[in-house]
Amino acid sequence: MDLTAQNISKTAPAAPMIDPFGRAITYLRVSVTDRCDFRCTYCMAEHMTFLPKKDLLSLEELDRLCSTFIDKGVRKIRLTGGEPLVRKNIMHLIGSLSRHIEADRLDELTLTTNGSQLSRYAEELAACGIKRINVSLDTLDAEKFKTITRWGDLAQVLRGIDAAQKAGLHIKLNAVALKGFNDHEIPDMLRWAHGRGMDMTLIETMPMGEIDLDRTDQYLPLSMLRATLSRQFTMTDIPYQTGGPARYVQIAETGGRLGFITPMTHNFCESCNRVRITCTGTLYMCLGQEDAADLREPLRASTDNALLSDAIDDAILRKPKGHDFIIDRRNNRPAVSRHMSVTGG
Ligand code: SAM
Repeated sequence: MDLTAQNISKTAPAAPMIDPFGRAITYLRVSVTDRCDFRCTYCMAEHMTFLPKKDLLSLEELDRLCSTFIDKGVRKIRLTGGEPLVRKNIMHLIGSLSRHIEADRLDELTLTTNGSQLSRYAEELAACGIKRINVSLDTLDAEKFKTITRWGDLAQVLRGIDAAQKAGLHIKLNAVALKGFNDHEIPDMLRWAHGRGMDMTLIETMPMGEIDLDRTDQYLPLSMLRATLSRQFTMTDIPYQTGGPARYVQIAETGGRLGFITPMTHNFCESCNRVRITCTGTLYMCLGQEDAADLREPLRASTDNALLSDAIDDAILRKPKGHDFIIDRRNNRPAVSRHMSVTGG
């Protein structure tokens, strides 16, 4: 397999795609696999049925898809999953996509990972021009970590974080805020993260896919958590942006940044610059809506990218205004049937 042989388009970067609400689409999230080596309770059921491997796009096809989006003005790509680092030969894809950073056609190539494979891949990721990664970590308590991830090993993730920092990667820690599970631990996690030079972001749990638990038991509005944190920390809103949905504060006591991703209490759809593709080539224009476009067929229909490009244009014209997630006792159903592991975080 030689992904590096794929051509870089020599044309100047395109003007970004614009959706019907005037939003420029410059950020693509790519789920490279629906499989994961963890089974986080809020994300997946314990016994998941995964896609047959034959339905997955090949690494070459994923590369072509990403490169076409770059041709159409995308400047940031995040690889996610499932767990992106468990996809076989994933470093081939990352190495290949890094040519777009070198060519100044992409501002950032990054990934969201559970950290389990970082000890193995940190050096290679840094060598591919990856500067920052997000590591999902909901607790620093080994027992609780086992409970929430079902299959994960905290020590392995911490070794991965060490390896990534040693390789020079900047890490942002992502924690899903879960009522009665990690809310009391967040101040300590924050001090730990900031003490190691890592930013941290808190995420509200979203009603995506059937899980084995009741989401109303887990859901914690970040407005409440923020109010609790403000008793211990001096928080100042700052305009810091990473191109994603988090809104940041600076914490005076630690000198670090804390982000809030609040899809439930305050949706951020008016500034949405993102679309997502799954590992089978389905394009979702909104994380919280069912409408999607199949890109695999136009991708496979010809070696020329014209059909694919037209299919992307059509889909962007259908990007909805936003999502309408609700979690309460009366609406105790997933807002969308697919799990987060399908479209990625
Ligand atoms: N395996 C990788 C990881 O753990 O980061 C990438 C995929 S994972 C689906 C991406 C992020 O989505 C993780 O931070 C995870 O905690 C978060 N997530 C999963 N299900 C969620 C849900 N229902 N609501 C909010 N966040 C969720």
